[in-house]
Amino acid sequence: MNEKLVPCFSCGAPAPDIEGPSHKYMLSSPGCWAIYGEILARDYSDFKYPPVHRLVVDAYAVQHPGKPMRQAIQSVIVHLIGLYLSLEKGMEAKRVTQAIGRATQFSEKFVWLDPPENMGSITVADVAKTQTLEEYDRLGRDWAKSAWEAWATHHARIRKWSQL
Ligand SMILES: [Zn+2]
Repeated sequence: MNEKLVPCFSCGAPAPDIEGPSHKYMLSSPGCWAIYGEILARDYSDFKYPPVHRLVVDAYAVQHPGKPMRQAIQSVIVHLIGLYLSLEKGMEAKRVTQAIGRATQFSEKFVWLDPPENMGSITVADVAKTQTLEEYDRLGRDWAKSAWEAWATHHARIRKWSQL
């Protein structure tokens, strides 16, 4: 196993220096994508799809905005809307998903948001180190808050789009 770690060019997470796949438009280093894959696998198996799952998916997506193309533009915005509704409106995951479904009907109004220089202090690499569900839940929420704060210059727009 290759132990060398390199920072992901998008989120800065120290991740294994490996070759491999990454997502089509949520661009990341292959090592970062692999760590995220492990977290998701644990969500579905050991943790049985915990409440923090929605926040974790949103946090990862907004830390990997990719390039200004249609799918990436829509992805960043719907995941920022997800973070907004969960964190600021206290909406539960199922309702957030429904609200996002409604917002995507107006996705032709969405425009590329210039990503922040700094994606926040918590990354997938930190969250992957958690052991218990309790720890994971706590750090996953902190991750989501930090990723949402990183996009502060676009908060007003996200609030508006979330009401479409
Ligand atoms: Zn990354």
